[in-house]
Amino acid sequence: MVRLDRLLTQNSELRPDGIYNWSIPALAAKLSNGKNIKTCPNAGACANVCYARNGTYNFSNVKARHTANLEYVINDPQGWFAQMLEEVNHPRMRGKYVRIHDSGDFFSEDYLLLWLKIALLTPDVTFYCYTKEVSMFKRIVEYDCPKNFRYLYSLGGREDYLIDLELDRHADVFPDDAAILEAGYANQDASDLLAITLTSNKIGIPQNNIPQFRKRLAGRTFGEVQKER
Ligand code: SF4
Repeated sequence: MVRLDRLLTQNSELRPDGIYNWSIPALAAKLSNGKNIKTCPNAGACANVCYARNGTYNFSNVKARHTANLEYVINDPQGWFAQMLEEVNHPRMRGKYVRIHDSGDFFSEDYLLLWLKIALLTPDVTFYCYTKEVSMFKRIVEYDCPKNFRYLYSLGGREDYLIDLELDRHADVFPDDAAILEAGYANQDASDLLAITLTSNKIGIPQNNIPQFRKRLAGRTFGEVQKER
């Protein structure tokens, strides 16, 4: 397998906060060998209103790169691990953040273990992620988590019922700021990092202004739509 160019990216929104991104395709992807892979195995209601299946994420160059990222991890996990470790170990990364999965999720246990190992080996970098792989995290991560690996469950998935809404750090997507406040959640809109730094365990994300998604959600949160299922 050939090395890819820089694995971690930054956009203008995340740069001021020192956040780097790693992305794979949202929900599912077809690899060049014809094999289909579910990249968000426990996605539920979120799949119909997924920002990462909309807009610029559908540009052919973006889709191709996310698929190439996925193929790299699947076909050459040790090569990918070595390259990611090298990037995260670079002096410019000290004190910075890696958001694992701007799109996609932990699609296998082996893949999650690679990330945990990278976090253990690079204590000067903070990793964080939203995930719907609740049972896997409760089994593997919850009781033995590297200090610099932060996560929160995100509602709208098939394993929502496993999330303890009082004890587990989690996020839900709300129609607007007022709805977040009314539900007693803490708003993370000002910075993505608030997802892991706010003292509240209940993180509220205001919905994107994408008309067809707003129509589908009809004033409900991701968690509410999932519950109705
Ligand atoms: S888990 Fe996240 S990336 Fe995957 S389909 Fe749901 S919202 Fe999209």
